[in-house]
Amino acid sequence: MAAQKLKNYVAGEWRESNSQQTLDVFNPATDEVIGQVPLSTKDEVDEAVAAAKQSFDEWRETPPTVRVQYLFRLKELMEQSFEDLARTIVREEGKTLDEARGEIRRTIENVEAAAGIPSLMMGRNLEDVARGIDEEVVRQPLGTFAAIAPFNFPAMVPWWFAPYALATGNTYIIKPSEQVPFTQNRIFELLDDLELPPGVISLVNGAKEVVAALLQHPDIAGISAVTSTPVAKHIYRQACEHGKRAQCQAGAKGFIVVMPDADLDRTIPALITSFFGCAGERCLAGAVILAVGDVYDPLKAQFLQAARRLRVGDPLDETVQMGPVISRQHKERVLRYIERGLDEGAELLLDGRGVEVEGFENGYFIAPTIFDNVEPEMTIAREEIFGPVSCIVKVGALDEAIGIIHANPYGNAASIFTANGAAARQFKYRVKCGNIGINVGIAAPMAFFPFGGRKDSFFGDLHGQGQDAIDFFTEKKVVIARW
Ligand code: NAD
Repeated sequence: MAAQKLKNYVAGEWRESNSQQTLDVFNPATDEVIGQVPLSTKDEVDEAVAAAKQSFDEWRETPPTVRVQYLFRLKELMEQSFEDLARTIVREEGKTLDEARGEIRRTIENVEAAAGIPSLMMGRNLEDVARGIDEEVVRQPLGTFAAIAPFNFPAMVPWWFAPYALATGNTYIIKPSEQVPFTQNRIFELLDDLELPPGVISLVNGAKEVVAALLQHPDIAGISAVTSTPVAKHIYRQACEHGKRAQCQAGAKGFIVVMPDADLDRTIPALITSFFGCAGERCLAGAVILAVGDVYDPLKAQFLQAARRLRVGDPLDETVQMGPVISRQHKERVLRYIERGLDEGAELLLDGRGVEVEGFENGYFIAPTIFDNVEPEMTIAREEIFGPVSCIVKVGALDEAIGIIHANPYGNAASIFTANGAAARQFKYRVKCGNIGINVGIAAPMAFFPFGGRKDSFFGDLHGQGQDAIDFFTEKKVVIARW
């Protein structure tokens, strides 16, 4: 496909950005430039917000039963373009085709969940709160919201939010990650076919200048951001300062506890997917194994054997299990962490550096990497690496494992593998993370559940997806009436 300069989608039409600044978008498997993304300007954000504001009244007055017809149609179009969308993700993000298909499936599930809005958005009432007086609470949309997305789920992340925002009667603006703008571009081609009222949903490409303009704009009611932790803190602060609602999902460090009674035949495949799926570029990925007691030796041996067998290569090849990381710079960052682990005295059990993929010599590949004899204080056990690098820490008991999890600043996800219900119950009850897996390596909430996150992994009150999303995108109004 020829390199293409992307456009924005504003007021129901494709518009060339006036910006002179563009970034190249790369295929991580080949290092080839696949297109350019414009770094749109504040004026272009203003135009998108003006169009969104203008369409708000018409959209909120459109009955919810009619609004969801657009979502039904969008689902249909996404199903028809399923394979094409998955391939678009692979080409710019580098995850495998199967992983990309999983991402599109969850994207569609969010569209489906939001289609229940005529019931989900209902208010409540009570007759005779005093003699002859009735009281009700209704939910109303607030205006225009915006999403700021990371690179690792180019299709799904903005659609953790957009379906609920639209279904509840708000208008919406998406700013994709500048590293992976093609997938949302493709989704907006589908949206264009829906013939929504112009301005109901817009796409503004760009980087932090676009984010700054959205954060400062008085007509943006709220921001949903999914970014690294320093960026999330900045966005949350700025959004609050400008009087906006904000939900900011952030970085992570996933701890996985394996108890001595865990069924290793089932645990090992789950660990492999958790640590090395999506090349470790998943906020729910496992990063550190906390091996409790006697499980340490057999776990280490089997995990190593399975990781060695993983096929790294062209993510479009159906037999490949792990693709490249997102960029040359990110690969270098991951390699620096591996150096750091060695400097701090961890033992490199499996070294994924220097892997070569025939025909893809310029791709940003790193094979599964395993560190053993890791201490919880080491950098590689504390910081988010966001690559296929795993750490094994030997611990004495569940209590110690929970202590290590709590000492870490992140609180996104943690899992336990065990056959003991009491241990699982303790883990679920005590661990201060937003998503808990029990014999599940990637605790990814379905669309109709909120996507959890605590501590440095989430800033805000209401999460993405499910009922939380409906609360985030609506304001409750109380009406007390006497006739
Ligand atoms: P990133 O923070 O570099 O960029 C994310 C978005 O923020 C992009 O749209 C980017 O344009 C924007 N941005 C970057 N710097 C900015 C700045 N200074 N001011 C304003 N906006 C800025 O993150 P990334 O590398 O694209 O994504 C990976 C990160 O996202 C990881 O930390 C990962 O854990 C996190 N993530 C979290 C979740 C979750 O649910 N908690 C899900 C996916 C990814």
